[in-house]
Amino acid sequence: MHRDATKLENHSIIEGDICIVGAGMAGIAMALDWINTPYKVILLEGGGFNVETRMQDLYQGKNTGQRYYPLQSLRLHYFGGTSGHWAGFCSPYDPIDFKKRDWIEHSGWPIQFNDLLPYYEQAREIVEIESSNFDFDYWKKKDPELESLPLDKKVLWNKMWQFSPPTRFGSRYKEEILKASNVHLYTYANVVNLETDDLVSNVKQVLIRNHAGKEHVVKAKCFIMACCAIQNARMLLASNQQAPNGLGNDHGLVGRFFMDHLEVMTSDLFMPFAKQIKLYYPWVYSETKVRAELALTDQKQSQLKILNGTASLMPKEIAANKSPNIDTFPEDAVATVEMWEEMNKLRGHENFGSPETYNCKEFELFTRMEQAPNPNSRIRLDSERDELGVLRANLDWRLTSIDKRSIRKLQEVIGEEVGRAEIGRIRLKEWLRDEENNSDWTSELGGGWHNMGTTRMADSPKKGVVDANCKVYGLSNLYMAGSSCFPTSGAANPTLTLLALTFKLSKHLKENVAKNFKSLQKAMA
Ligand SMILES: Cc1cc2nc3c(=O)[nH]c(=O)nc-3n(C[C@H](O)[C@H](O)[C@H](O)COP(=O)(O)OP(=O)(O)OC[C@H]3O[C@@H](n4cnc5c(N)ncnc54)[C@H](O)[C@@H]3O)c2cc1C
Repeated sequence: MHRDATKLENHSIIEGDICIVGAGMAGIAMALDWINTPYKVILLEGGGFNVETRMQDLYQGKNTGQRYYPLQSLRLHYFGGTSGHWAGFCSPYDPIDFKKRDWIEHSGWPIQFNDLLPYYEQAREIVEIESSNFDFDYWKKKDPELESLPLDKKVLWNKMWQFSPPTRFGSRYKEEILKASNVHLYTYANVVNLETDDLVSNVKQVLIRNHAGKEHVVKAKCFIMACCAIQNARMLLASNQQAPNGLGNDHGLVGRFFMDHLEVMTSDLFMPFAKQIKLYYPWVYSETKVRAELALTDQKQSQLKILNGTASLMPKEIAANKSPNIDTFPEDAVATVEMWEEMNKLRGHENFGSPETYNCKEFELFTRMEQAPNPNSRIRLDSERDELGVLRANLDWRLTSIDKRSIRKLQEVIGEEVGRAEIGRIRLKEWLRDEENNSDWTSELGGGWHNMGTTRMADSPKKGVVDANCKVYGLSNLYMAGSSCFPTSGAANPTLTLLALTFKLSKHLKENVAKNFKSLQKAMA
């Protein structure tokens, strides 16, 4: 069922059992999982069914730290959320990403890889990739031409990736959501405040507004915030009427530990003696189904005391035309929706041959590195308000020296390995050569468009904002969905993992929370 909140009578009161705020990737995944349950689900989406400049302007904010993407085009503010321009790279996090690593401050999740493992299958299904098996041997059996470089398995391994079509959640799942009799979708329903009881122990209702000047109230027994990492933090901070520092923020942690992946061209790789390298064939938008990146083993990460990261092979002729994506990302969100198709037209991938005959010898290594969790890298509220009266976000993205050291070490290891195997040589980029110089390297850097960590998960309220079930500490019925809950960023793109975490949360809510509800849906039947 769908209602446009601009058409409701002003000051309407909407009621449900659970209320999901944000119909992006996490919000839609959660809503789909509740179809045909005995509960009345309210799904609130700030935007409509298309990208609109006026809606994107609500995301406008300041970048006061390390240069970053324009906030108004980085995330999409409509039904389907940022899936409207995501690229579809999928790979699970590695078991080491969840562990406490003595050499990385603030590392360690309160859940481990095996706790998430069952939910990766649901995540696979919703992003429409072929398999939840990411082992190289599995893919090699399917295609014997996928030949690995001769790597020492104690040092480097082939981290496999699959590629979603990419699934645009807005168009792909709209009909299913609209047909579901127990899911009540409201568009143009921007949450602007979460209101608690006097003890600040329970969210009673949320206030929604839109550009038509209407304001409504939504009451539910349980609220799930699925607005993406920046907006999840912003909403908690902006809901400061009963708690002056914002909700869940007794320890000043909301908005801190903002992370992205560090994506950057790092070295030239000459491999005149490598044989068949179809396995590493460059990614082609909406065509590539599977490929590998070179990744450091746990053992090597621990020995070198560095972060997790991977490197992919980019043919020199493609890499030569690339600037860091932060410098080229459009400010106009509408333009970003066509971005991938446009980029592919420009790059003319036919120049380096088909995967079957791929025989390139000169590459640049493109590195994607985990960012170390850093409490000073953070979202705050700005002094300016958006058109609906909410203080805008102010992002201060900050890196630390282990980030650059890890990028450099990964190149050194790959260099040693191709040298040892006598297949090639590596030359580090100028900015990486001086190990001690941390000054001006960031101008080379792009991000992954992966916002993580602003409501981090921890086993105590002194260390994080949500517990192992994504429930906000101190509030009995408020949950966070998405990568805002990630304590560390891992090496892989986050969406497959954030969807797995969302399905885990969904199961927890069904089995432990909703079963105690006196369901409104049942009462209505
Ligand atoms: C260019 C680009 C490429 C990417 N490529 C990849 C990739 O290849 N692989 C990968 O893993 N990840 C990729 N990502 C990241 C991926 O898009 C995000 O991880 C994912 O979209 C996050 O899902 P989400 O549901 O948390 O947020 P979103 O998808 O952004 O959804 C948030 C939803 O909440 C709504 N909302 C926000 N605030 C409010 C409010 N106050 N009230 C009501 N509704 C609200 C929004 O309108 C939106 O619908 C990419 C991102 C970008 C920008």
